[in-house]
Amino acid sequence: RNLWRYRELLPILEESFIVDIGTGFSTLHKSGNLADSLGLKNLYVKDDTVNPTNSFKDRPSSVAISKAREFGAEAVGCPSTGNLAAAVAAHAAKAGLPCYVFVPANTESNKVLQASTYGANIVAVDGTYDEANRLAAQVAEDNGWAFANINLRPYYVEGSKTLAFEVCEQLGWKAPDSIIVPLGSGALMLAIKRGFEQFMSLGLIEEKRVRLIGAQGEGCAPIVDAFKAGDEDITPIEHPDTVAKSLAIGDPGDGYYVLRAIRESGGFAESASDKEILDAIDLLASSEGVFSEPAGGVTIAVLRKLVASGVISEDETVVCCVTGNGFKAADTLQSRLASPSVIPPSLAAFQEAHGRDDQ
Ligand SMILES: *Cc1c(COP(=O)(O)O)cnc(C)c1O
Repeated sequence: RNLWRYRELLPILEESFIVDIGTGFSTLHKSGNLADSLGLKNLYVKDDTVNPTNSFKDRPSSVAISKAREFGAEAVGCPSTGNLAAAVAAHAAKAGLPCYVFVPANTESNKVLQASTYGANIVAVDGTYDEANRLAAQVAEDNGWAFANINLRPYYVEGSKTLAFEVCEQLGWKAPDSIIVPLGSGALMLAIKRGFEQFMSLGLIEEKRVRLIGAQGEGCAPIVDAFKAGDEDITPIEHPDTVAKSLAIGDPGDGYYVLRAIRESGGFAESASDKEILDAIDLLASSEGVFSEPAGGVTIAVLRKLVASGVISEDETVVCCVTGNGFKAADTLQSRLASPSVIPPSLAAFQEAHGRDDQ
């Protein structure tokens, strides 16, 4: 059970090209504890932290690197805010292809550690994601290499629609009323929309309008800002500054189309501050046992705000996408934790520190 169960709907011509490391068919948690604490009845968390490299980016990478093999590419790569680097590197390793990943120099160290352990060449760029992206595009063009989210992009984006397929299947072959999606470039949300539409046009689920709700971190929320201002175009953010580094794309490639898709769906877009994001990570972990990186905290924080403001009502079936694992951002999360107090290995010491006072 993984995303290749939907291979008839994915753009790979022959099964022999498929690069399969077990991506997809992640758990859809019925999140009763979190729902109770927020006042909802039908809340689900789609837990893409459990993919092979611990983020949803394994979905688009699986399809892109399979396509690179089909095209006979000599080398693969990508620009990345971190998670894509690890995902492309892992799939490239399985495919036996050299891999070049371009990341901003301030990328979380665990994400870089992961990509480099899979054997990728790490190109740390002294600049923003948008600058790393531009350089990567030049390198791909100059060397004739296949880069997942650049010249393989039409195939890359197809991989993520499997998230929507799975949600429908896991809900008993129906679509949810609303889905909350973190927005970086916006590709994931558009893929999810296409996934629902494809299942509807194939008659696998009933026709319905799924409300698309976009979530970004306050320090880099160009799509949310445009949504709230009623604008049709995106004004790029030059210096993104959010704890949700996976979403720190100041000039989102699909922003224009995402805005239209959100509006057409009757959806909404909302941002969350660093504190709201970190609090939401704690809330999700302590209520549902799911450990998320800040990008997933963003969707939970936005869920919380939209329930409070009445945009999301208690009866709707809501799916919240949690797209990356907490270990990805260990540096960020660690910095707010107090070290545990150390006790001698004696019962008396335990009782003094934690025990019930039952004298
Ligand atoms: C890349 C990423 C996103 C955003 O995806 P886009 O397709 O760029 O919008 C969301 N969450 C995580 C964890 C990511 O790595």
